Amino acid sequence: MVAASTSISPIRLFPVGEAVAPGTGVAKDAFGRAMTYLRISLTDRCNFRCVYCMPALGMKFQPKDEHLSDEELLRLIKLFARVGVTKVRLTGGEPTIRRGIVDLVRGIKSFPGIAEVSMTTNALLLGRLADDLADAGLDRVNVSIDTLDPDRFKAMTRGGRLDLVWQGIEAADAAGLRPIKLNTVVVKEQNDFEVADMAALTIDRPWQVRFLEIMPLEGVSQVHDEGLVSSEETQARLEARFGPLAPVETDAADPARLWKIPGAAGTIGFISPISEPFCAACNRVRLTADGKLRLCLLRPDEGDLRDVMRAGADDETLERAIRAAIWRKPWGHGLAEGERETVRGMSQIGG
Ligand code: SAM
Ligand code: SF4
Repeated sequence: MVAASTSISPIRLFPVGEAVAPGTGVAKDAFGRAMTYLRISLTDRCNFRCVYCMPALGMKFQPKDEHLSDEELLRLIKLFARVGVTKVRLTGGEPTIRRGIVDLVRGIKSFPGIAEVSMTTNALLLGRLADDLADAGLDRVNVSIDTLDPDRFKAMTRGGRLDLVWQGIEAADAAGLRPIKLNTVVVKEQNDFEVADMAALTIDRPWQVRFLEIMPLEGVSQVHDEGLVSSEETQARLEARFGPLAPVETDAADPARLWKIPGAAGTIGFISPISEPFCAACNRVRLTADGKLRLCLLRPDEGDLRDVMRAGADDETLERAIRAAIWRKPWGHGLAEGERETVRGMSQIGG
């Protein structure tokens, strides 16, 4: 278990124009980890208010002109591809509410070097968008769904409709956005008693159902402190219903450790940033909607690419800025030492 002490961690913005270790080839941090995976927050806004992601009241959203425009975003992604990024995940906030999302996907997928474009979404709008997104080149989706009970769903998302989300998941499956992965954040006394029902979805479907430990980001510290359920506890609940799970070989860079109900069509994943940090194999950085390169989900170190770009930097300068920022990626998230993000929430970083 992690100590519940907190420390103030305002954003640490450093001058990204400073060429620390520009070099060529795939951009690496000072520990030798190659950053080939970029997660992009397309907006800090959302059509849900999940209890573990946003506070009930007082959520502040950034002015739209602080966000990267489509042109700025595409220019940066092209440069990320030049420094070795091969995989892009679109997230948020809720990425499907960004205007022009289909054309953005098409643009990103057209860049040489970008092999995979995926999205993390609440699926509310996928019923009408899935075909167009697949046609534009989206490869697959991860859908956040914490319960199969409509009333609990409404409570956990503060207003969401499960029937529409389920239609969205089916539309994504039918459009070929596979393998479908479902993300379930396990919260004590809200959905922890339902994890076996979620896992049972994998018996007949070739889906991956992933159980996440709650992280203590800004605005949800109390939900974390009171609601954290370890992966070990979740696994014990699953094994009480299905018997021992069978391990499945996992890619080292995948934060999920995979298992299977024996004989099932799909798999079960445990994402355990609290009880089993996976920092050593981290290959990802995040671009926030307001153009900051966020180097670790849970640490406030960021490089400001937007202002460098808006000050008129050419592509070579921007590429150096990206490499220099990546070089400064911190080693690990520091939760065990009591460090906590107190400035940005998950929806403002891009989970
Ligand atoms: N709105 C989209 C969605 O919900 O899928 C994308 C953004 S959401 C911030 C990305 C992922 O972060 C979701 O799977 C969500 O469940 C997860 N998430 C949000 N807050 C979290 C927290 N405090 N701890 C762990 N996971 C969290
Ligand atoms: Fe919105 Fe996703 Fe956060 Fe839920 S987890 S409030 S759907 S951004």
